[in-house]
Amino acid sequence: MGGMLFQSRCAGCGRSGGVLCRTCRFALAAPPALPTTSDVVAAVPFVGRARDVLLGFKYGNRRQLAHHLAGLVVNRLLAAGVGPADVDVVTWAPTSRRRRHERGFDQAELVARRVAAQLGLPCGRLLERDGRSGAQTGLDRAARLHGPIFRASPAVAGRRVLVVDDVVTTGSTLRSAGAALRRAGAAAVRRAAVATTPALAASSPSTRPRPRPTASRTVVQGPWAA
Ligand SMILES: [Zn+2]
Repeated sequence: MGGMLFQSRCAGCGRSGGVLCRTCRFALAAPPALPTTSDVVAAVPFVGRARDVLLGFKYGNRRQLAHHLAGLVVNRLLAAGVGPADVDVVTWAPTSRRRRHERGFDQAELVARRVAAQLGLPCGRLLERDGRSGAQTGLDRAARLHGPIFRASPAVAGRRVLVVDDVVTTGSTLRSAGAALRRAGAAAVRRAAVATTPALAASSPSTRPRPRPTASRTVVQGPWAA
């Protein structure tokens, strides 16, 4: 890893002097209005400066940057009415082995652990990718189109889970993660991300069926919601 070379560069603009420069910090703190997505609480749209910052996540001081990005997610969750009393445990949608190997770490895990810390909630690895997904390039492509397959720990049974991802593009990863958690008996599943592509929010035709809005609302407004 050449990470040491970038230790003091801003993840947003590459300027030296800090993990996230003042300009980028302000740009992220005051994002443009985010289009409403169906059921993912996302802090910022995956465009412009926020996109640069998330793509630059692999440089600089990841711990500090993850802390800042988690703060954005927590603020958005609280604004959406989701607080520590509504969640029992925080987890993340693990990235593919290949991506993790390329980066040396899992961005979603770093953000999820700090979201949990800031909310005063436990965080645990509760999801595993299906052994086959991510093993080959062809399967990676299939996973991109149709979503990876996850298995959830039996430990989620009866618990209200918040699953965190760094960037939501098609939404398939968080959908699949949520489905696995529900299959394992999670009492409720909430999904949050640092950023989402504006295209996801737009009601553009998709190559795969979108989840029925009524089903999503049932989860969010179920008897477990405070
Ligand atoms: Zn910057």
